[in-house]
Amino acid sequence: MQVFKFGGASVKDAQGIRNVAGIIQQQPPKQLVVVVSAMGETTNELEKLTWAYLGREAAKDTIWQHVRARHEQVIDNLAGDNREPFEGVYELFSDVETLLAEEPEPNADKVYDQLVSFGELLSTRILNAHLNQSGLDSYWVDARRLIRTDDTYREGKVDWERTGEHITDTLADLIETSVMITQGFIGNTGEGYTTTLGRDGSDYTAAIFAYCLNAERVTIWKDVPGVLNADPKWFDETVKIDQLTYQDAIELAYYGATVIHPKTIKPLQNKNIPLYVRSFLQPQEPGTVIGHFEKHLPVPSFIFKMNQTLISLHPKDFSFIAEENLSKIFGHFAEYGVKINLMQNTAISFSVVVDHRPERLARLMPHLQENFRITYNEGLELITIRHYDEKTIDRVLVHKKLLLEQKSRYTVQLVVKDEARSPTPELTPE
Ligand code: ASP
Ligand code: MG
Repeated sequence: MQVFKFGGASVKDAQGIRNVAGIIQQQPPKQLVVVVSAMGETTNELEKLTWAYLGREAAKDTIWQHVRARHEQVIDNLAGDNREPFEGVYELFSDVETLLAEEPEPNADKVYDQLVSFGELLSTRILNAHLNQSGLDSYWVDARRLIRTDDTYREGKVDWERTGEHITDTLADLIETSVMITQGFIGNTGEGYTTTLGRDGSDYTAAIFAYCLNAERVTIWKDVPGVLNADPKWFDETVKIDQLTYQDAIELAYYGATVIHPKTIKPLQNKNIPLYVRSFLQPQEPGTVIGHFEKHLPVPSFIFKMNQTLISLHPKDFSFIAEENLSKIFGHFAEYGVKINLMQNTAISFSVVVDHRPERLARLMPHLQENFRITYNEGLELITIRHYDEKTIDRVLVHKKLLLEQKSRYTVQLVVKDEARSPTPELTPE
């Protein structure tokens, strides 16, 4: 069996849904689990809705009406005269409206998951209805019944044992004869509350299904031709990579390549399931395959992370940065959910580079300030080059001031300040 995953961009409108349905219909009508994200920008809008609801702002109704109207437009376009298959979508609309009429409960992250998860429920209901209407007997599966997590809202940790049982019990027979349509990104605590797996978590969901069902392959359908050696946003010329090792893929994703969610690779690597990254715009093209290969990346790959903050800690009492200090520091970072993108220490200083997330940093800082003098540098870029050579380093440093550099055998990381006026580097890899 195989797993397909379609992201928000692929199902952003009626045309997109038709295209996705077309790709599914090219496959034998069985042994296929299709994992789908929320349509287009829906998740961002539902986040706004959540904040407005929690803040008891009148704007919440306008935001919701906007989300609802965009989904209705898609239904209008797809349904023609027969709206019956789409009834499930209208039920979801009223579920949201019932929720919004209630007084918000105090746990904001929990509220977030209950509301934001509707994006995936809606998109999958619409896609499934469209497929049924076009003659494919696909099943809509509620991923919340299958994916069990703990109650870390917005970042649910998967209970693999229970999830594995639920998935095999529910799907093992059904997939022998049918196509399943299910949601990315969402799960359930087991007490009836919805959880989400972290932003962009639908890729991870696809990997969970693949792992539990011992899939032969997973395909992530994207709006790019495959994994590229750099983001076309920053580079005029990019190279598509045909084959990528699990290790290179996980490193690239970890350092911020947005093409695959970082948690996706491990379950697939553990079962040696290949991951294909292909274009939903050119479904005949082979894309990239990530798997167990001998050869490393054929070209240097670049990852730019913008809006980085460099924080340096200096012990007030001049003590060494040693195990004890470090474990305290890491404890604080973990507690406040500040992910460290790079770290470096000397005898009496410890520097970290993190994403600029002011609310989290504001909560973390007072704890660090108890024992450390802190210096701060904002508005930086973190450039990671996998399989670098000196020439590529020189090239990305044009117009940049280098603040920190870290090299290992295969990867170099550079923390820089852009000194050029233009925020976009005029660089192209060879
Ligand atoms: N819709 C969710 C998000 O935008 C999950 C995903 O797209 O993978 O974060
Ligand atoms: Mg999305």
